Amino acid sequence: MKILTKDNPILRQVSKDVIDFDSIKTLVNDMENYLRNNKNAIGLTAVQVGQPLNVFSMKLRVKPYEGRIITLINPKVIGISEEMIQSSEGCLSCPGIYVTIERHKEILVKYSKVNGSVIEWEFKGGDALCVQQEMDHLKGKLIIDYQEEKL
Ligand SMILES: [Zn+2]
Repeated sequence: MKILTKDNPILRQVSKDVIDFDSIKTLVNDMENYLRNNKNAIGLTAVQVGQPLNVFSMKLRVKPYEGRIITLINPKVIGISEEMIQSSEGCLSCPGIYVTIERHKEILVKYSKVNGSVIEWEFKGGDALCVQQEMDHLKGKLIIDYQEEKL
C-alpha cells in the first residue's frame, strides 16, 4: 500500500461518503494492517492511499482501549469541547514535518462501523487530536496548511 505525499493533488480532494460497505472491506483491512505493522503510524485515511472516501483507521492511545485499532466510516462531528490545546503533529503524508496546531481537547463523533452499525464515541486526549487531523484529510486539508496560515 502506497501512501500519497503532500504534493499529490488527490490529497486535496474532498472525500465522499461510502454507500456500499462491502466494497471497502479490503481497503479497511489493508489500512488497519498498515497501522498494526507500523508502530509510529496512528492514523490513516482512505484518501492517503488514493481513495477519496470518508473512511479512516486509527490506533487508540487512551486507556482503557490503548492499542486497539478502529475504523470510522462516514464520520460526522456532533460535538466539540470549547477547551483547546496546542498539539504538535506529524503526518504520514508530510514526512519530516511537524506543525503546532490548536485543536479541540475533546470531540464527539458519530460514525458507522464496517458491519454497518452506527455509534457515537467521545474521543479524548491524543485520540481526539488524531480524529481532528483525519477529519481534516477528509476535507482535503493537511497539517502544512496550518503552518501557512500562521505565516
Ligand atoms: Zn495525516
